[in-house]
Amino acid sequence: MLNIVLFGPPGAGKGTQSQFLVERFGLVHLSTGDIFRRNIKEGTELGQLAQKYMNEGKLVPDEVTINMLKAELEKISNPKGFIFDGFPRTEAQAQALENLLDAMNTAISAMIALEVPEEELKKRLADRAKTSGRADDADPAVIQKRIDVYNAETLPVKHYYEKIGKYRGINGQGSIEEVTQRLIEVINTLH
Ligand code: AMP
Repeated sequence: MLNIVLFGPPGAGKGTQSQFLVERFGLVHLSTGDIFRRNIKEGTELGQLAQKYMNEGKLVPDEVTINMLKAELEKISNPKGFIFDGFPRTEAQAQALENLLDAMNTAISAMIALEVPEEELKKRLADRAKTSGRADDADPAVIQKRIDVYNAETLPVKHYYEKIGKYRGINGQGSIEEVTQRLIEVINTLH
């Protein structure tokens, strides 16, 4: 299996690039943010719980997020591989993911990080707010909070994969096509 963690701060282009990689490599896209938003729309208990954290730009607690991801993984039979988008966001989640994949006799092939400077992220998120309908994109204070949470809680996940030799960083600036091409080049070295 080809299992990619697509990593990067909010606004780095993880969701956009995931769409291309799903098509190109036949992978299953698992975005924890998308799954939470689906639950909010459907008014589930999980959605109600997650919404409070999301609106404030905070992380949903690990236990809730990990259990949700586990349930999603169990729904899929015979995948060629996964793109994890927005997960793991903490070291505890990275460890849990390793255990979940281990139980499926597979593992993360690589974490690929989209590197984009903070000023560019803020611009992109403010632009995205015009079309995304996301409350957490519309408020500059919440955008700043999400970037701060990324720096404080999520960046250590990069070191987790660095330590096990699975970290690959790429330049996330430039056109969408240019970034896709860089991603494909890295993925082609993995198998
Ligand atoms: P995203 O769509 O990835 O930008 O995620 C939107 C929001 O959903 C985040 O700001 C968090 O509140 C929540 N969220 C998404 N993924 C996770 C995760 N892996 N752990 C905790 N919270 C998450």
